[in-house]
Amino acid sequence: MTKRFRRSPVSAERTLILVKPDGVSRGLVGEVVGRIERKGLKIVALELRTLERSVAETHYGEHASKPFFGELVEFITSGPLVALVVEGPRAVEALRGLIGATDPVKAAPGSLRGDFALEIGQNLIHGSDSPESAKREIDLFFPGLS
Ligand code: UDP
Repeated sequence: MTKRFRRSPVSAERTLILVKPDGVSRGLVGEVVGRIERKGLKIVALELRTLERSVAETHYGEHASKPFFGELVEFITSGPLVALVVEGPRAVEALRGLIGATDPVKAAPGSLRGDFALEIGQNLIHGSDSPESAKREIDLFFPGLS
């Protein structure tokens, strides 16, 4: 008898990705976008922009009391970044895997941070850490697209 494997349908979700100013200035936008596309995920929005301080502070609001907050806001507003909305099945988790651990020295080789970054303060890329954060972050960057 033939075995049948049924997969329950996985509905698409969306996540917010930022190629941070270090990634843009180092010419790594194509590398990041290429990896996202080759993984099979779909880009539904993409914009080059320099963040207002208030947007950066809202985006990283959960870190407001941390000692690195000032530097983080300074860095993320220091030059243009590329913001993307990416869609696919379990897109949040898929992107966290492609991105790698927060500390690039500990990030697995093969991940974006593992392959292209060394410093925690300049770790190339941001990806939402949960579907709830993704909705909040997409609403901040691309109202109406979450
Ligand atoms: N960060 C830092 N120093 C730290 C921890 C974090 O500069 O000790 C920065 C780092 O750029 C990181 C961002 O703050 O990407 C947000 O931290 P989070 O813990 O949310 O990491 P992520 O979700 O980006 O991996």
